[in-house]
Amino acid sequence: MDYSCFEKLANTYGFARVYFTAPMSFDFMPENKYNLIMDAKKELSFASCIAILVYPYAQFDLLEHIPAYYIASNASYHSCKRLISELVREGIRAEKVEIPIKPQLLRSGVGTQCRSSLVSIPGLGTRVVLHAVAIDMLEPISYDEKDYECGFCTECISACPVTAIGENGLSSDRCMRFAMESAEHPDWVKAQQMTYIGCEICQYACPRNHKTDSIKPNCSLLNAFDTARLIAGDTSDARKLIGRNMTSQGRLTAEAIAMAVRDEPDFFSKYSNELLKAENSEFHAVQDALRYVKELYGR
Ligand code: SF4
Ligand code: SF4
Repeated sequence: MDYSCFEKLANTYGFARVYFTAPMSFDFMPENKYNLIMDAKKELSFASCIAILVYPYAQFDLLEHIPAYYIASNASYHSCKRLISELVREGIRAEKVEIPIKPQLLRSGVGTQCRSSLVSIPGLGTRVVLHAVAIDMLEPISYDEKDYECGFCTECISACPVTAIGENGLSSDRCMRFAMESAEHPDWVKAQQMTYIGCEICQYACPRNHKTDSIKPNCSLLNAFDTARLIAGDTSDARKLIGRNMTSQGRLTAEAIAMAVRDEPDFFSKYSNELLKAENSEFHAVQDALRYVKELYGR
C-alpha cells in the first residue's frame, strides 16, 4: 500500500488528511499523567512511521449544549479502529497509539500552536480530532504546513469566561476543560459550563474556525441529550454517542442539572419529577449538583 492508497482508505472513514510522521521521543512531561508513550522510537520499535489521522467536524450553534468535539471524538475513535482492522487484513501491522499527538504534529512541521493551546491545521482550523496509528510500512514525510500565528487576535482571550487565556497562552489551572476531568465539577465550572463534558467556548470565538457554518444536531442527538431525560438519569443514549469512559459516575445528569438551573427560570417546577429521581441517584456528582442548585436558590 502506498501513501495515496492509505490516504484514500482513511478518507473513506472520515479522515480528511493523514500525516506520515517519524516515531519520536519527548521528555517535556515527567509526570506523564495520561500515560502516553513518550519514547516511540524505543517503545514502538516495529513502527517505521506514525500516521496522524485528522478527523474534521462541524460545530453546533453557539448555544447548543451538545458537545460537537466529544461526539466527533467517539465517532472517529470507532472509525480509527475499523481502519486499523482493514490495514491488518492487508497484512500491515497497525496499532492505535497514545502519544503526545499535538507536539508530534508540530515537530513534524504541521499546524500552529494557538493561544488556546489547541493546534490549528491550515484549512481546517482547530475543530479536528487527531488519532495516531503506528505502522510498519511507509517512511515519514517532512511537512511545511504551518497555519498563521495568533498575532494580534484576542478573540479567545475575550471570550473565555474564566480568564484562562492570556497573550502568552493558556493557564491550565484556570481552564474549565482541565477542571472537568472527573464527574464532579467545582462550583465555578458549574456556573460557567456551556457544553457537556468539556468547554468549547474559545473554539467558537476563534476566527480559524469560521470557515464553515454551524450545524444543527439531528433528532437522535437532541433526543439523547434531552435535558429532562438526563436529569432523570436516563443517560444511556447520550453515553453511547460520547463513549462510556467519559460519562460515568452520573456525570451527564450532574451537568444537566447545573446547566438547566442557570438557563431555565422555571427549573424547579419544570423538572420536579426528574429531580425526585435525581435525589435517589447513587452518584456523588449528582448529589453534589443537587446541593449546588439548592444552595443557589436557598432551598
Ligand atoms: S476551554 Fe473554556 S475555560 Fe478553557 S480556555 Fe477555552 S474558553 Fe476558557
Ligand atoms: S481566537 Fe485568535 S488568539 Fe485565540 S487561538 Fe484563535 S487566532 Fe489565536
